[in-house]
Amino acid sequence: MGLVVQKFGGSSVANTERIRNVASIIADTYKAGNNVVVVLSAQGDTTDDLIAKAQEINPHASKREMDMLLSTGEQISVSLCAMALEGMGFPVVSLTGWQAGIRTNSAYGSARIKRVVSERILAELDRRSIVIVTGFQGINKYDDITTLGRGGSDTSAVALAAALHADLCQIYTDVDGVYTADPRIVPDARKLEEITYDEMLELASLGAQVLHNRSVELAKQYNVNLEVVSSFTRQPGTKVKEVVKTVEKLHVSGVAKDTKIARIALVGLLDQPGIAYKVFSLLAKKGINVDIILQSIGRDETKDISFTISKSDLETARTALEEAQESLGYDHMTISDSVAKVSIVGAGMANNPGVAATMFEALYNGSINIHMISTSEIKVSVLVDVADADRAVQVVHEKFFSEFGR
Ligand code: ASP
Ligand code: MG
Repeated sequence: MGLVVQKFGGSSVANTERIRNVASIIADTYKAGNNVVVVLSAQGDTTDDLIAKAQEINPHASKREMDMLLSTGEQISVSLCAMALEGMGFPVVSLTGWQAGIRTNSAYGSARIKRVVSERILAELDRRSIVIVTGFQGINKYDDITTLGRGGSDTSAVALAAALHADLCQIYTDVDGVYTADPRIVPDARKLEEITYDEMLELASLGAQVLHNRSVELAKQYNVNLEVVSSFTRQPGTKVKEVVKTVEKLHVSGVAKDTKIARIALVGLLDQPGIAYKVFSLLAKKGINVDIILQSIGRDETKDISFTISKSDLETARTALEEAQESLGYDHMTISDSVAKVSIVGAGMANNPGVAATMFEALYNGSINIHMISTSEIKVSVLVDVADADRAVQVVHEKFFSEFGR
């Protein structure tokens, strides 16, 4: 007998019929002799609807009250699902994050799980109950409800799987696995049987919205056996693990696109030591993450520095940099938010020269202009015009998956 944690996303529990479907997946897992802990998201668009309601009442509501409100969506799903299983004759109990012992730090709206006090869950499992826990939430040291950030239920599931030493953590969603590219952009994208934690982390942060980033970090840290699978097809999904079988080791595992970014260029900075330090420590103080950075030689003993940040940080960055224009001593700033980052990710890239060149060749053949480039051991990213982004994904995917493909 094993312990399985199963997480179902909002679309998998969107209505009564789908909750029944989820209940029957849970029931089958239980009947196979497993202990089952289930984590659910809020139904369908519930979280968005709750946010809209809050906006109507008070657009500046405190984060504490937002968490109080948003955590209710998950309570609805878990109780309904428990009722479905009760109706089918199974022993079952639903628990809030608090009842399940999920303790977080105090950052309302983006809390991090610090530990899981698992006594209650273990006691329920001892009684052979199915345990259904609200995703996306916990409590902090003030006994206040906190939420983990949008998409955080994946992280709840992985944290529970780690704390309970589960044999498997299945993330059920409306896609049946991790693909080599977004199938809406590349119709012949393929489903990967396996992918490494590191590749998955890169893909998640690059905008392939399959798993919450933090959940993959946790899975890697605690070596949780993770699987992405569809609640609709019940077909084998994609396994996320430390090392993948060699047959699966493609040079490139996926092509991703991120359009939620903006580029800032500071033109005419003095060419002297300490300038980069001043610019980026200013941004760091504002809590702004900087991604691709490019420094180039400008005119007359000056230099230019351009970099990308998340679009949501653009206004904060703009204001901070404008205020500091004199002390930083740049001539002017240009901003573009019509850019996108297109990236290839692959653990096999590190030992195979020419991967980046192949990507650039594909973009060249597609007459797509590259504004910036950045690389890491397992990733090559380019910044392109947002208008070119989908086509960039297509030509790059075509190049890698018809030449190097299996
Ligand atoms: N319900 C939350 C959201 O919509 C958490 C989740 O679905 O993972 O972001
Ligand atoms: Mg999700």
